[in-house]
Amino acid sequence: MITVREALYRGASLLEKSETPFLDASIILAHILSISREKLFSSYPDPLKPGQMDRYMEAVKKRQKNIPVAYITNKKEFFGLPFYVDERVLSPRPDTETLVETALEILQQNPEIKKVLDICTGSGCIGISLKYEAPKLAITCSDISPDALDVCRYNSSRLLSNPVEIIKSNLLENIAGEFDMIVSNPPYVPSLEVREIKSTNPAEPRLALDGGDDGLDLIREIIPLSLEHLSPGGYLLLESSIEQTYSIERMMERAGYTDTEIRKDLTDRDRITVGRKPLI
Ligand code: GLN
Repeated sequence: MITVREALYRGASLLEKSETPFLDASIILAHILSISREKLFSSYPDPLKPGQMDRYMEAVKKRQKNIPVAYITNKKEFFGLPFYVDERVLSPRPDTETLVETALEILQQNPEIKKVLDICTGSGCIGISLKYEAPKLAITCSDISPDALDVCRYNSSRLLSNPVEIIKSNLLENIAGEFDMIVSNPPYVPSLEVREIKSTNPAEPRLALDGGDDGLDLIREIIPLSLEHLSPGGYLLLESSIEQTYSIERMMERAGYTDTEIRKDLTDRDRITVGRKPLI
């Protein structure tokens, strides 16, 4: 009979090509055994039950094919919430928590903000985290992908007592009315880099990453379109790569936004560009 410890070390050695073999194996094994990682480490001498080793090895094989751990366990923690994820959506990145934090800060300083729109929502991680933190907000999440919206709807119903509104829309095409804040983590990776990402990690949806030649195709559309859907004094918050923030800030200024600023992520890199629609 194989023990938890032996299974863990066998998995980690099979995943030696991963950047984090032990971490990956422990998350996968804890998932198969339906226990926390803390409990896993205190269960080293326990034997695995029949069938568990086979299921574990199957999952390890998927990881060997570069499937992200989050797609194997169907779970990714974001802003303290356990989001369901699979290959229909991008797995939420810790970097994006900076967007949520920035939004919450602005909300605290502007209690009159009531309606928030999250475009290119994917798993819904931004909009749903905001609704969880500030339940009184009216949150709308939109995406062009019906598959992504199914995941968003599932997360909304599992994680929230009052669900977010969900609309299928290519950017702002099907969106009616005005919002006090628009947030987005749109696809912003330059197409050539997407090719590289897809070669090592084929599972992530291209649609959620590819932002065209310079990565800014969608952001170029979102900036002017958002002005039409923001209430006077409303905020636009966009995530991007470090190199893009400066151009995004210029684009916002040229489009007529005021009070533009760039916020840094957890590792002190410029990641979030904020702009405000003028009050009059
Ligand atoms: N930050 C993601 C990555 O580096 C990209 C997310 C996006 O394009 N919105 O893979």
